[in-house]
Formats: sequence, C-alpha cells, structure tokens
Amino acid sequence: MRVVSGIQPTGNLHLGNYLGAIRNWVRMQDSMGDGNQCLFFLADLHAISMPHDPAELKRATLEMAAALVACGIDAQKSVLFNQAQVPHHAELQWLLNGTARMGWLNRMTQFKDKSGKNREGASAALFTYPVLQAADVLLYQTTHVPVGEDQKQHLELARDIAQKFNNDFASDDAPVFTLPEPISPPQAARIMSLRDGSKKMSKSDPSEMSRIELVDDADTVMKKIKKAKTDPEPLPSEAEGLADRPEALNLVTIYAAVADTPIEGVLREFGGEGFGKFKPALGELLVETLRPISTRFNELLADREALDAILARGAAQARDLGRPTLDAAYGALGFVR
Ligand code: ADP
Repeated sequence: MRVVSGIQPTGNLHLGNYLGAIRNWVRMQDSMGDGNQCLFFLADLHAISMPHDPAELKRATLEMAAALVACGIDAQKSVLFNQAQVPHHAELQWLLNGTARMGWLNRMTQFKDKSGKNREGASAALFTYPVLQAADVLLYQTTHVPVGEDQKQHLELARDIAQKFNNDFASDDAPVFTLPEPISPPQAARIMSLRDGSKKMSKSDPSEMSRIELVDDADTVMKKIKKAKTDPEPLPSEAEGLADRPEALNLVTIYAAVADTPIEGVLREFGGEGFGKFKPALGELLVETLRPISTRFNELLADREALDAILARGAAQARDLGRPTLDAAYGALGFVR
C-alpha cells in the first residue's frame, strides 16, 4: 500500500487546522503496517492557480512544514516534501496534458466554483490544476489516496488519465501507471470560532480571540478559553442537550477531540457543571496537549536550516521514488533523451 496526500500550505495555523487536518495525517502515518508507506507533500505549486503573495507563500510553506513535524509526521516513517523541490510533478503534468481531454477538465466542478463569473480571467493553472493533481499521485505508483467528497471528481480524473495513457502508450502486461483507489480519511472534528459558535475557526477571522493558534503560549491559551463565548446554563448530561447551544457544543467538541473521547464521555464527566469548572479543565487539557507541539513548532520556525534540511531530505527521497515512473512515461511517449 502506498498512500499519497497533499495539503495546501497555509500560515497562522490554529486548533482547527490541527484537529481537522494535520492530526489526521499523523494518524494515517501511524496506522500504516510494515512495508506500507505514506508520502505527504505541501501543494505549493497549486498556489499560483489563484492570486497569491510570494512572501506569504514562502512563510506558509515553512510554517506548514514545521507544524507537520511538530505534530508528529516522522521523516523516518513517511516522506515529507514540498512539490516545488520535486520538478518531476510539473514534468509529469506536462506529459499528462497530452492525454487529458478538454471535455474532462470542462466537467470539473471545482474550476466552475473557483472561477465563478470570471471564467475568462481565471488562470490557465486553475483549469489544468486537476492534471497536476493526477501527476501528484500517478508519479509514485500510488495505490490509495485519502479523499473527501470535494476531491472525488479529481481522483476519478486521475484514474481516467492513467487508464487512457496506459491504453494508448503501454502494453497490457507493462502499464506505466497504477490506478489509485480512493480511501476515506479518518473522521475529523469541525472546530468553530471561540467568539461565535456558528462560524468556523479560521485564520481569516479578524479577532485573535476567536482561535487558538499553534504559536500561543500557555497563558494565552488559558485566557482565550476563559473568555470564550458561552451561555449561562450548566452543561447537559446528554448530547441532545447541546442542540441549540452552538458555543457550548463547540467547547465540548474541542474537549472530546483533544481527549480523543466521544462527546457523551465528556458530558458524563462534566454534565451538570457550569463553565466556571469546565473552562479551566478544557484550558489545562489544551495547554498540556499543545505544549510539546508548540515548543517544537516554535523551535523549528526559529531554525530555518533544520527545516530546510527536513524538506531537502524528503524531496530527495521523492525524486528517487518518482524517477522510474517519469522515465517510463517519457519512454512510452517516444521521447529521445
Ligand atoms: P482557514 O479556514 O483557517 O483559512 P484553511 O482553509 O487554510 O484554514 O484549511 C487548511 C486545512 O485545515 C483544511 O484541510 C481544512 O479542512 C482544515 N481546517 C481549517 N479550519 C478548520 C476548522 N475550523 N475545523 C476543522 N478543520 C479545519
């Protein structure tokens, strides 16, 4: 089994990114049996498909790499790299552009959503980005790709491209590409703003009090939790009692996700208690859980050499793993090299 998964680099990482995305990768890595392997990459090449700020991209790429390592992505177990250091991704995309059909790309709903009314003004990269995604997985003979609902269509496209390429340019007994299968990522918590239980916790919320950031120290975490919006009622003993209480539900959800227990378990312990008791308990749990992560995260961010070395090592491994498939694709297409 070889699993490949990409994440867009984003900066100002917060608890929502950790519980909703990064921790899932660590779990995937740790659930791989012997002989199986995960490749995790930062999808930095995708950034230019939308308007972007180069300085921000650089900062976000380094931050995301530091966060992944701090949260437990282990270079001894997995391959961690950013696309821009593995030119094979862009090369293979070009080769696959010859196989992908305009009609297939025209059907991609994400392009329609992201280009909106401004189709003519959208970048060509936004249109061909699903072909880069196909290259991202086909390059490594990937057997399984974790995909949420929104990415199912793009994985189907990758399979169609692989199938057509194999049919057109390879013999049945020596296909160039493996057709990857989708797997469902582990269920992830959705974390809401600490100021408004109906809004997602997000880096773009103007209020820093709305989110716990990975760089926050213990005092800041405690303060943000103590000031989090709540209602005057005590916590219920059953989950149904949280139905119309978005802020209470959010804090209980955070506790459950961090403690890795069901919501019912949290309510068994705290049902009947007010927030005067629950908030300090939640704050302490968060501080204890985040302390090793934020310590390592801040250390790595302050040590650019260490971070560069981690990414360089992962990229070298990725180039070695991708090289045979890229060579086979060039060869199948008749290029003299
Ligand atoms: P933001 O909303 O802060 O801009 P991004 O859109 O950059 O975050 O998301 C990066 C990753 O983190 C995505 O996989 C996304 O699903 C996850 N994520 C972001 N915010 C949350 C949240 N509040 N709860 C759960 N997961 C989240």
